[in-house]
Amino acid sequence: MTNTLHPNLLKPLDLGFTTLKNRVIMGSMHTGLEDRFYNYPKLAEYFRERARGGVGLMVTGGISPNRQGWLLPFGGTLNSIFDVPNHRKVTTAVHEEGGKILMQILHAGRYGYQPFVVSASAKKSPISPFKPKALTERGIRATIRDYARCAGLARQAGYDGVEIMGSEGYLLSQFLCTRTNQRTDRWGGSIENRMRLPVEIVQQVRAAVGADFIIMFRHSVLDLVEGGNTWDEVVQVAQALEQAGVSIFNTGIGWHEARIPTIVTSVPRAAFASVAARLRQAVKVPVVASNRINMPDEAEALIASGAVDLVSMARPFLADPEWVNKVAAGRADEINTCIACNQACLDHTFANKRATCLVNPRAGFETELVYRPATRKKRVAVVGAGPAGMSAAAVAAERGHAVTLFDSSDSIGGQFKLAMQVPGKEEFAQTLRYFGARLQAAGVKLVLGLRVTREQLSAQEFDEVIIATGIVPRIPAIPGVGHAKVVSYLDVLQRKVTPGKRVVIIGAGGIGFDVGEFLLHDPAIPLPVPLAHWCHEWGVDLNAMTQGGLTPPTAHEAPQPYRQLYLLQRKAGKLGAGLGKTSGWVHRATLQRNGVEMLAGVEYLRIDDAGLHIRVGGAERLLEVDHIVLCAGQDPLAELMPDAKAATTAAAPRFHCIGGAALAVELDAKRAIREAAVLAAGL
Ligand code: NAP
Ligand code: SF4
Repeated sequence: MTNTLHPNLLKPLDLGFTTLKNRVIMGSMHTGLEDRFYNYPKLAEYFRERARGGVGLMVTGGISPNRQGWLLPFGGTLNSIFDVPNHRKVTTAVHEEGGKILMQILHAGRYGYQPFVVSASAKKSPISPFKPKALTERGIRATIRDYARCAGLARQAGYDGVEIMGSEGYLLSQFLCTRTNQRTDRWGGSIENRMRLPVEIVQQVRAAVGADFIIMFRHSVLDLVEGGNTWDEVVQVAQALEQAGVSIFNTGIGWHEARIPTIVTSVPRAAFASVAARLRQAVKVPVVASNRINMPDEAEALIASGAVDLVSMARPFLADPEWVNKVAAGRADEINTCIACNQACLDHTFANKRATCLVNPRAGFETELVYRPATRKKRVAVVGAGPAGMSAAAVAAERGHAVTLFDSSDSIGGQFKLAMQVPGKEEFAQTLRYFGARLQAAGVKLVLGLRVTREQLSAQEFDEVIIATGIVPRIPAIPGVGHAKVVSYLDVLQRKVTPGKRVVIIGAGGIGFDVGEFLLHDPAIPLPVPLAHWCHEWGVDLNAMTQGGLTPPTAHEAPQPYRQLYLLQRKAGKLGAGLGKTSGWVHRATLQRNGVEMLAGVEYLRIDDAGLHIRVGGAERLLEVDHIVLCAGQDPLAELMPDAKAATTAAAPRFHCIGGAALAVELDAKRAIREAAVLAAGL
């Protein structure tokens, strides 16, 4: 089948000296593999798989032009001829598959997590412990030379071009904005002076690489920080950079230290595309829209309308290397959609771990997690169609096993069906759509609406039985927990109960926060939340009439939050400390903005008609509420597992227990899906 729905997305783009085969760019994503020379063969396979998947142009993770620019100690650097052979492994793999690839040159400036950091001025960033040294005139000259040498070496290594990272608050942003540039010499002060560094870098890079080499500049079109640039300055910089030799403008949104979310799942799809479209009106070279574009319909609309020339997606290619081929074949419903959770990609990067993907555990592990055809076809039962069960069933069936997937519910999805009820988590529905299509294509036999028993499993003579039955919510031993005011998060998220206007949530883990957002949502506002409403809530001015595009947040000025909420935990310390590093702050900020009272170090005394009695800070307190929602964690549900002795002595079937059924503590879909895929890959 060929695509008639997304023709513009698949149109080539002629850059004069080279042609991109379609309008889709895989944006830069740091995987961690680029930081060690011995990981380049793995990195090459990672890119090979994505080039084979049809994407028009790819960009590597950030590579520093020198030591001062390292993001992390000994981070990926290209400043010597000895680095070239490693990079050539990547470019060769990509070119063998008919792809094109740019190397991103990233100087972290004051975001570097290492002691050699430099910046425009000696001003520490709020997200790094290292105070930078202000670059001297000599240091600036050396930096420009390092960029040019790095780009020249990239050309020698076979790259089709470079992307110069000029956004997200890294070094070039630090020179471009008064927030961080307080210099009084010719590199600071007016916008003409502040843009001198990026402009001279582009000029010198162009001189080093010649005319037939792509220079894509990632330009910060909306800084989203105080002391960021205004729209007029953004345009002035872009025009000077174009003059200096830029071939394509990619767009960057928000500095890493911005307190406005720019890529998490609650950001509306394609939220910032209009800003990229405005840039396109101001320059002659092609412009790329980025951020929260993950599916072809939005991407096609942006290209078809002429708003932008290309779209960039980074995380969606971790989730699905075949994204473009599926679109081209009219199989968009089979795309494994990035749900913008950040859990296995950015959260890993910030924890100095290899980036992978929650919905695609093979990402970054292309040479290690391989689904080979099974040598002997087995009969496999998978019990539980949540994330773990769906993943195990799909991989096992794709390898050639005969798989039956059981679930007591009448639809697949497990906990994901709950997650997608939470405002801002609508993307989780995409994962269910994807697995539905994948299970069907793999020939998995679905038996839904049946709570299968051990006897029924025995009767069917399976070779392997995978128990993925998940969890049961924990009921804490609080006097009065059986009171009619007490409900489980399941009742709330499944809409079996509509809590009153005053609610206390017991437990401040991921689900406690999710339930908080669910209860704060005013049903009069449609879901997913419209872009204008989202901008109003977070104080974003997409026209960037103000510095950085910030306006005062206004949601807290609303008459009243939709409900009065309390969120409680027993341990001392910050609530939500266990949430994702790159997304937890968004959830905390949302609850704070809505006046949620968050209490730590709470002792639960009893529940009665009056409400919840607690002791906190040595004093007793009554929370007079209509409902108490239990979000107090989970216990494993694995009643179908035979005892250990029976499991090891029986000839067949072999039993396996995965996901929440194996370990409910810190239950999360990332572990469940990976564990299931690894098990099924070895059956
Ligand atoms: P969780 O993260 O383990 O949190 C459980 C909460 O319940 C904690 O705040 C804990 O705090 C409290 N608790 C535990 N035992 C209790 C007891 N006996 N009595 C009263 N309170 C008790 O579990 P969850 O919130 O159910 O989430 C499950 C998993 O889903 C998480 O691991 C998370 O990875 C994932 N998830 C993540 C997100 C997200 O990142 N946004 C969203 C949803 C789910 P105290 O012990 O201090 O009271
Ligand atoms: Fe997207 Fe989440 Fe995968 Fe990252 S881990 S690529 S955000 S689905």
